[in-house]
Amino acid sequence: MPITPPTESAPDGLDDTCGELVSGYDEDGPTAHECGAPLHHTENGYTCSRGHSYTYAACRAAEGWDYASDPVEAELLARAGVIGVYLYNSRPLP
Ligand SMILES: [Zn+2]
Repeated sequence: MPITPPTESAPDGLDDTCGELVSGYDEDGPTAHECGAPLHHTENGYTCSRGHSYTYAACRAAEGWDYASDPVEAELLARAGVIGVYLYNSRPLP
């Protein structure tokens, strides 16, 4: 029986398709599914063919910013001197 190694032990630590959740609709109403677009690895993280991007934590720290999931988290980051960037569109939060 084949053994699936944990994701952490993969050579690049990533699948080759985008796992970003994308909101959409189905017959039951609003839903979310994984993007699934091919990933392109970069020096600092990766981007997908549909425009999602991800930057590694070490690179975010070096550049003085981090992901925030909402304005409250961004505010907490700001108090620590870190720029909060909205996780889902990579734009700085107000
Ligand atoms: Zn994507």
